[in-house]
Amino acid sequence: MKTKLIKLDELEENQKNLKEAANILRNGGLVAFPTETVYGLGANGLNREAANKIYIAKGRPSDNPLILHIADLEEVDQLATNISDDDRKVMEAFWPGPLTIILKKKECVPYETTGGLDTVAIRMPSHKVARELIRMAGVAIAAPSANTSGRPSPTKAQHVMQDLNGKIDMIIDGGEVGIGIESTIVDLTGEVPTILRPGYVTKQMLEEVLHKEVQIDQAILRKEGMNGVQPKAPGMKYRHYAPKGKLTIIDGQNIDKVIETIKQLVEDKKKEGFVVGVIATDESMKCYTDGVIKSIGSRLDEVSISSGLYRVLREFDDEGVNYIYSESFGVDEFGDAIMNRLLKAAGYDMIEV
Ligand code: AMP
Ligand code: MG
Repeated sequence: MKTKLIKLDELEENQKNLKEAANILRNGGLVAFPTETVYGLGANGLNREAANKIYIAKGRPSDNPLILHIADLEEVDQLATNISDDDRKVMEAFWPGPLTIILKKKECVPYETTGGLDTVAIRMPSHKVARELIRMAGVAIAAPSANTSGRPSPTKAQHVMQDLNGKIDMIIDGGEVGIGIESTIVDLTGEVPTILRPGYVTKQMLEEVLHKEVQIDQAILRKEGMNGVQPKAPGMKYRHYAPKGKLTIIDGQNIDKVIETIKQLVEDKKKEGFVVGVIATDESMKCYTDGVIKSIGSRLDEVSISSGLYRVLREFDDEGVNYIYSESFGVDEFGDAIMNRLLKAAGYDMIEV
């Protein structure tokens, strides 16, 4: 299959291009498009065959359900049932935006899309291109991250090309995404709202809207891994986001000590003949002298860090780096979401100093 790459620039052309993309989606094809979190791989989510194509293109395990993306609030009632006043409060507060909500599914949502579950994950993205495309397609769009399963999620169209060229119908290049890590997932089907995947929308933000306690799925907090406890979001049990090189995080209150430790580790591995990478920040870059040194972003701007994470991991892959050492970034709740991805990429390998 030939994958058509489309750059969005001029408005008139955009309308024509988006129309073509919407047609592909309506006819059961696959289109990758930008959202405010990461690039998504879209298909008609109510069409079994189209949803199946996503699993094949990504090499995704079939028990890992897809998120349905909508363009307008009314559409949620076509997909989900038993929606409470609290549920609507959450939607009104955070949609459009980087929050996915788990609700009880209606019959029209096929089990191919939900990985066999009776619940459905729904999100209304805020990215203009994503919403326009979904609206034009006129159907709910299943759209997991547009990467090969197990690789870092794509934050640029070029990343999608690397993974899916020849496997999907079209890629819409809308430039680099904003947030750069996947949406927060909150399950609203139980007694207590539960965060199944941390992201830009935090527990505190949800509690402020709901005026009640929100919990975080215990299985995703375990730093030592997930031994014994199954995460409630099926996808969270897989070792996502893995770079090819071996990633280790160096964690500690004292940044000078962290930097010293990383420098020592780099020196040791280089002596053994390996190519070694360092994940630093704009602030710490100048402290390192050896190895492939990359800034993930600035500590003064957390979104710069989240949006740099997957890009940096992919760059190390492209440059054939064998070992990667990273500073750590968990200073608040959103920082914890960044750390959740970084820890998974590291297979939970962290050294405390
Ligand atoms: P991705 O689309 O690649 O961001 O992955 C979607 C994530 O949403 C995976 O971690 C899934 O396990 C999770 N998910 C989707 N639907 C459900 C559901 N009905 N219940 C729990 N988790 C879900
Ligand atoms: Mg994904």
